[in-house]
Amino acid sequence: MSSATLPDIRVDYEQPETAQAGAACGTRHAWARVPAEPSQAERAALKQRIRSLLQSRNAVMVSHYYVHPDLQDLAEETGGLVSDSLEMARFGRDHTAQTLVVSGVRFMGETAKILSPHKTVLMPDPDATCSLDLGCPVDDFTAFCDAHPDRTVVVYANTSAAVKARADWLVTSGCAVDVVAHLKSQGKKILWAPDRHLGAYVQRETGADMLFWNGACIVHDEFKAFELAELKKEHPLARVLVHPESHPDVVVLADAVGSTSAILKAAREMDVKEFIVATDNGMMHKLRRLNPGKTFIEAPTAGNSATCKSCAHCPWMAMNSLAGLAHVLETGTNEVLVDEGTGLRARLPIDRMLAFTATLRPGQAAAGLVPNVGAA
Ligand code: SF4
Repeated sequence: MSSATLPDIRVDYEQPETAQAGAACGTRHAWARVPAEPSQAERAALKQRIRSLLQSRNAVMVSHYYVHPDLQDLAEETGGLVSDSLEMARFGRDHTAQTLVVSGVRFMGETAKILSPHKTVLMPDPDATCSLDLGCPVDDFTAFCDAHPDRTVVVYANTSAAVKARADWLVTSGCAVDVVAHLKSQGKKILWAPDRHLGAYVQRETGADMLFWNGACIVHDEFKAFELAELKKEHPLARVLVHPESHPDVVVLADAVGSTSAILKAAREMDVKEFIVATDNGMMHKLRRLNPGKTFIEAPTAGNSATCKSCAHCPWMAMNSLAGLAHVLETGTNEVLVDEGTGLRARLPIDRMLAFTATLRPGQAAAGLVPNVGAA
């Protein structure tokens, strides 16, 4: 097995200094351990080994759109799934395999385990995390919630199992507007965590009374509005697709705003040949494969930096590798465990969301928030 890794990358992320509304953020430090690219021969051998291990272990792969193309392709070639975090967990729950191998970040493994408590959930690297999860520690978040008992607690999927267990509702970017609009129609006031940009977008769309945790995604927060406007001038026929974790100044330049699934849908349905895309560049693989006649350009960030904040690729998603995947299938290591009580409590807001989205008109939600292409 190739186990080569590049030196650890230092990653800066934001965390509110106090558990109060509008608290300023301080900069915290984390790290990511990105594996080296295997050679062609190593890749072929690893893929072959993984195929046979999946069979012998009665396991299935579920991969996120942001992981390495090898892990996306292999998931599909072996009967697994490439999707967003919710679909990954739902697919794992409904699949007959007893072992789920989740290529993504830790909260995705935890969500899969919460929905499938009796299955074994493995991850190529359990230290793969997320700035939204890191920046919303459960003790501080609990204090924030306790200070606002009159508010319904709505958290984004990108949170730990413990934070989900403190929530009333879970949402993804695909159903956030619908859920919050529903709660607003019931006269509820919202406490929202952790992504401030997605929260601001949902508030603009719904007009709900929302109080925000001050978190951000280190990848989407880096897209730059001025540079994007300049790029649009160079490509006047291109449509701009933006994930709502991006800054509001970037979102306002979009022709379509939405989740990863909604971005895929918009790219397929919009009758143009060129797109500028503001989301993790791991998405480009799927966008290009599904739309061979179309061109996809990465939206500009501040440029590559030593901290890997500005390369439009999540350093923690990059920790997933073929070698790591083969290793966990072979050894059974890196199992994701969620305390039973926490898992049971965290399942409530997830099930509430699943039940709610099941009542929506087909195509109304669950794929995203996509102006200009109709409901997604
Ligand atoms: S891309 Fe952003 S939101 Fe997604 S896992 Fe990485 S840090 Fe978290």
